[in-house]
Amino acid sequence: MLICTVRGCGQPLTRTGNAYSCPQKHSFDIGRHGHITLLQPQDRRSRIPGDAAEAVHARRRLSDRGLFLPLLHAIRDLAALSPADIVLDAGCGDGYYLGTLAEQTGSQGHGVDISQPAILAAARRYPHCQWVLANADRQIPYASQTFSLVLSITARRNAPEFHRVLRPGGRLLVAIPAPDDLIELRGASRNRIDSATAAFSPHFTLAAHRRATTTADLDAAAVADVLHAIYRPLQPQPPAAGRVTFSLDLLLFQPVDAPPAQSPAASR
Ligand SMILES: [Zn+2]
Repeated sequence: MLICTVRGCGQPLTRTGNAYSCPQKHSFDIGRHGHITLLQPQDRRSRIPGDAAEAVHARRRLSDRGLFLPLLHAIRDLAALSPADIVLDAGCGDGYYLGTLAEQTGSQGHGVDISQPAILAAARRYPHCQWVLANADRQIPYASQTFSLVLSITARRNAPEFHRVLRPGGRLLVAIPAPDDLIELRGASRNRIDSATAAFSPHFTLAAHRRATTTADLDAAAVADVLHAIYRPLQPQPPAAGRVTFSLDLLLFQPVDAPPAQSPAASR
């Protein structure tokens, strides 16, 4: 169900030996840890090259502390994940959510991200899922109607492509930072639910909303990791240690039947 990312091609990829190729003989290597590199030269020059290794490792250390488990369980429950699901995580980062959810629920997981350090970290830790290095802002490298569930967890959003790769009756779960997310480090932020819903409105309708919130008492090393892992503006002097709130607004969308005209633009 992977498709070729060479501009204007888009034909199905099939595996032969240690590579994937399309009928036009475009070929893509499979990495040592099983991930597939479908980035094109124009994607590598993207103005958003994705998470650097330092941010990926900081986030991994935080998830290894179990800090995000309550958020993960809220995502699992709202999405009603089952072993029958074929799941795409678009902008999967280090694979924590998709890899753990696939383990817990028996669903089949496919993660796409534009950051090479992130995809390598995901492929090493969660070999039971398929990990793809590609620019999902431009094109999701999967055939139409492949997935029963698309996840977009604090990632960039591409509504037309999310719609294209979802099966009829599928669902989309979008997680965005809630106003109280990291409030101790950066103050309260605005509510983003209306703008996110509007960005998806031509292709999706909002079916459910839930807020998932957890707090943790963090030492200085963990606070430093949070600061490395996020890019949003901070308080002038964020605390060196203390209680930190992690909070997501979870939006569950249903696809609208007839897709409107395709637009290549992605929104944040
Ligand atoms: Zn091709």
